[in-house]
Amino acid sequence: MDLTFSASEAAFRDELRAWFARNDPGAEPVGEDASYAWRRDWQRLLAEDRYAAVHWPVEYGGRGATMTESAIFFEELGRARRPLMANVLGILLAGPTIMTFGTDEQKDRYLSPILTGDEIWCQGFSEPDAGSDLASLKTKAVKDGDEWVVTGQKVWTSGAQYSKWCMLVARTDFDAPKHKGLTYFLMDMEQEGVQIRPLVQITGEPEFNELFIENARIPDENVLGGVGNGWRVALTTLMNERSGLAFFLQVRMRQLLDELIEEAAERDLLDDPVVADKLGYLHMKAEILRLTAYRGLTTIEKYGTPGPEGSLTKWMWSETNQELAQFAADLLGADALTTGNRWAYELLRSRGNTIEGGTTEILKNIVAERVLGLPRLKGAAA
Ligand SMILES: Cc1cc2nc3c(=O)[nH]c(=O)nc-3n(C[C@H](O)[C@H](O)[C@H](O)COP(=O)(O)OP(=O)(O)OC[C@H]3O[C@@H](n4cnc5c(N)ncnc54)[C@H](O)[C@@H]3O)c2cc1C
Repeated sequence: MDLTFSASEAAFRDELRAWFARNDPGAEPVGEDASYAWRRDWQRLLAEDRYAAVHWPVEYGGRGATMTESAIFFEELGRARRPLMANVLGILLAGPTIMTFGTDEQKDRYLSPILTGDEIWCQGFSEPDAGSDLASLKTKAVKDGDEWVVTGQKVWTSGAQYSKWCMLVARTDFDAPKHKGLTYFLMDMEQEGVQIRPLVQITGEPEFNELFIENARIPDENVLGGVGNGWRVALTTLMNERSGLAFFLQVRMRQLLDELIEEAAERDLLDDPVVADKLGYLHMKAEILRLTAYRGLTTIEKYGTPGPEGSLTKWMWSETNQELAQFAADLLGADALTTGNRWAYELLRSRGNTIEGGTTEILKNIVAERVLGLPRLKGAAA
């Protein structure tokens, strides 16, 4: 692994730094809806200069960036303290999945509005009784002429309240083994059969929702990747989810750590051996995470698609982020727990990090079996 940027990568990084210096969306407004609109406008600005999805091919509005360039983009986005695009699930998950499995008509229809933020996407995978064991999901889709009729319930659907489309996995064959009876649909959220109810998190934000689906209709042409092939298509979405954000998240965590070091310095705590020891430990973990993210990149460049290594960075990031937020609360005491204090937000929001995008236990299983090649646990769920 060579961590030195080539001349063209360094030029790309400099070009990005200059662009971010010229383009600033200003302070984030207060309130979930206003904040969302602000990130949507930011995405439009990025899309105008083909920066909204640099890793997408040029023909779809991206820059055909290599994985390293894409990593540089997310690093610089984080370093410039600019926000993530509003349609991040569309750009990182739906878009690449449609590019892999979509027909030409589907690519023509869906990719462009993802990039401009005109059509927002959400991910309808998890259900009340199917999270880690996604393949046991029960939402059913039954063929009716040239349409599918869908009934079931999804849960934890982030951003559903803003979404036009949903990446929906439903059961279409009840006799087939559970992984084989699934189909991946592109479901229009704007229909009577889809009811969205917000779930308020511990932070007070209704970031995600319950979806109640009753006789929703999906035309045949909105099947992605073929009937019965939903598991394969869904895995592509999940692998993109775990690898795409790694660079952005590690830079954000680094910034948080630097801010915590500043807070400790202001309180004259840097010479306290316990504080110094813990900050040193967190610094080391942040560095390991950065280097591991680059190592994952090398594998992606070698094999073309994200592999199980993304699970390692997601696991490391989530645990370290939680440790960091907890240490901030320990260090700052009651101050860190007052309403509106950013550390209070970080502490509460980080609780979900080890669950969202795959729980730590599941990621450990993936790393054990698919990265380290250890034997499967006897009797483990498929
Ligand atoms: C902030 C946030 C946003 C989310 N956004 C979305 C979204 O947009 N779309 C979406 O579809 N989902 C979303 N999710 C859901 C998320 O993917 C699931 O919560 C996750 O997959 C875990 O599923 P579960 O909650 O059903 O827990 P379960 O699968 O029921 O797990 C419960 C516990 O059992 C453990 N466990 C389960 N199976 C095993 C095993 N085989 N070996 C060892 N331990 C095991 C788990 O690690 C966990 O600790 C989001 C979750 C969060 C927290």
